[in-house]
Order: sequence, then C-alpha cells, then structure tokens
Amino acid sequence: MRETFSRVYGPAPGLRVFRGPGRVNLIGEHTDYNLGFVLPMALDMACFIATAPNADGKLRVRSEDLDQSREWAVADLAALQPAHDWGDYVAGVAQQVVRLGFDVAPANLLIRSTVPVGSGLSSSAALETSTALALLAGRPLEKIELVKLCRRAENEFVGMPCGIMDQYISVFGRERAAVKIDCRSLGHEMVHLPEGVEILAVNTMVKHELGQSAYRNRVRECAEAVAAIGSVASLRDVDVAMFEAAAERIEPVARKRARHVVTEDARVEDFMAASNRGDLKAMGELFVASHRSLQHDYEVSCEELDFLVDTALSVPGVFGARMTGGGFGGCTVNLVAPEAVAAFEGAIRDSYQARFGITPQVYRCKPSAGACEVK
Ligand code: ADP
Ligand code: MG
Repeated sequence: MRETFSRVYGPAPGLRVFRGPGRVNLIGEHTDYNLGFVLPMALDMACFIATAPNADGKLRVRSEDLDQSREWAVADLAALQPAHDWGDYVAGVAQQVVRLGFDVAPANLLIRSTVPVGSGLSSSAALETSTALALLAGRPLEKIELVKLCRRAENEFVGMPCGIMDQYISVFGRERAAVKIDCRSLGHEMVHLPEGVEILAVNTMVKHELGQSAYRNRVRECAEAVAAIGSVASLRDVDVAMFEAAAERIEPVARKRARHVVTEDARVEDFMAASNRGDLKAMGELFVASHRSLQHDYEVSCEELDFLVDTALSVPGVFGARMTGGGFGGCTVNLVAPEAVAAFEGAIRDSYQARFGITPQVYRCKPSAGACEVK
C-alpha cells in the first residue's frame, strides 16, 4: 500500500498499516442484540488502513475500493453529524475515540479492503476496527473497550442498531478457531472445528433494500416479545420451555421472532457440542434448522439465499448450508467435505447463473486472527 499511499498523499516515512478482519458467522443469527450466543470466525479477508500524520489539522481518508475521499477538521470531530455515507464509519469511530478522551492527531488514511462490501461478511466492522487501531496509533486500549467503541460508532453515528458480534469477532478473532461469544457476559470460548470439513461462503451478489428497515423492525418485535413474556430482561433469559409456556401471551408476529431467537440460542450450544464430538452430520442439520428458522420464523431470508441453500443441500458431500449475516442478500455459509469442494463450487455457480443470471462468488473461509498492526 506504500506506493499507492505516496501517490495519493505524497511520501510518508512514518507510514503504519493496520488490519481489521471480516467474519463469517457459523451459527447464532440475530441473537447478538438479544444478548444470546453467536459462533463466528474472523476471516483472512480484511480491511487494511495505511496511516501517516499530516500537518494541516485534517483527518483525511481515501477508500481505494470506492475510489472516493472524505475529510474532516480534527477539531470538528467531537460535534460532527453523520453524512449518511461510507465516511460515517470512519468519522463515527473517530468521534468515539475523541469521546474516550484520546486526541485524534491530524492524519491521512488509505483504505483497501478484501472483504466484499455489503455481503454479510462484515466489511463494516472490518472498517471500524482497522480505523480505530489506526487512529489510536499504538495507544493502549483494552480489547473489549475497542469492541464497544466500534459498536457505539455503528449504533450512534452510522445509526445501525447492530449487536456486538461483528466488532467483537473482528477484534477477538483467532487463527484455526471459531469463537463462541456470550453477548450478555461478553465472555468467549474458542471452538476448534473438526477435521474433514471446509467452510465455504457463497455470495448471492445481491443486497435487498428491505434489510435496513427489517432489521429495526426485528429489534422492536423482539422487545415486544420480551414485554409480553414479562419478568425477563431479554430473550436470552428465555429458554425453549419458558417460551412455550408463554407463547400464547405473545402476539403472533413477535411470537415467531422470539421462537427463532430462543431456538437459535439452543442451536449454538448444540452445534458446539456436535463440533466437540466431531459430529459433522449433526452440525449440518443444525445449519439447516437455523436457516429454516430464519426463513420462516424470523423472515429475513430471500429468494436468492433460499435457492443457494437448497441447491447446496442437493450436492453430495454438503453437510449443511444456511444464510449468514443479517439476511436479505449477502452470503450463505456451507459445511462441505474437502473432496466435494470442487463439485460444490461448480454446481452452485452453474445453477445460480442459470436461475438468476449472476455468477456467485465463493470464498474458502480460514479462521484468522483479530485486528492488529501489520508490521
Ligand atoms: P457488511 O458489513 O455486511 O459488509 P454493511 O452494510 O454493514 O455490510 O456495511 C457496508 C458499508 O460499509 C458500505 O456500504 C460502506 O459504507 C462501508 N464500507 C465497507 N468497506 C468499505 C471500504 N473498503 N471503503 C469504504 N467504505 C466501506
Ligand atoms: Mg455490517
């Protein structure tokens, strides 16, 4: 990135580069803002930010991927208002850094990301965590505080009421392991997946507009279910038996949403147990159950995602498939026997191309380390 940086901003002897990874969530979808369990892994696809100080009082940022630039006076960051575009992710993080009591030094930033943007692999959290590290420039901050800072930027400045999963895994990602996160205690444990399985993400290449408003509605519907159940603080406090006992009191739509969340939390625990005993068949079945629940109860899937899942399940050697991320487009995640990967990729490409006229991208997912400086 050094060459591009010099071309954009001029020579930069003090250049530093920071990296924040994207993620794929294996199971535990739409559970994080209900304070439940999630099981993501950080990817080797990541956002890289090169940064060097400047002497003109500005925070300047260029996204190579979008071929666009933004700039703010450092002195204005504390009171800045969102502009409702990609710059908000950078400005929002900068504002939170200031609010934590760190000064943001005038700097030029260059962004280059290998995380597909807007595809459910969390290019946004990758951008936030790499930005936060670039702005902190080596000043120490507890990892969990870094996570919370980035989430606040997305909640309060970007205006997306997301849970904590994406920022958490982008910071706490580990090589060779998925990470089970308890979104209430904010503790985690590593989960080493069994041998004999590849994790493949398949990109629908679509993002339906409905996603943003539906997300807000789901957050609200879950709160309605909590209120109807009574004497609980979140759906995390509700297990399957409790849900069934209270189901009649919950209005039908909120009831379906709650049923997804409550059963999905249970599936995360079951998936972990299945993984620990190397039971790929059970892991695959839990993937499919998760997808059906998101499709029919939570209603955040779409035609393209359902098609990719159904097609995957017809390919020999596929243990399971499900949508991953918020939904309404983005990616599926698939558990595939290593010897079946080539046939899987071919079958998925041909069928999707024939049905939708779009070539889906397939990514081999390798669990990777969390955000860090690239030396
Ligand atoms: P996801 O996190 O699943 O990729 P989001 O809609 O949450 O999808 O975040 C995507 C948004 O993040 C983009 O629309 C853009 O505003 C911002 N973003 C992500 N990566 C980049 C990048 N490399 N350059 C500029 N903005 C980016
Ligand atoms: Mg995102």
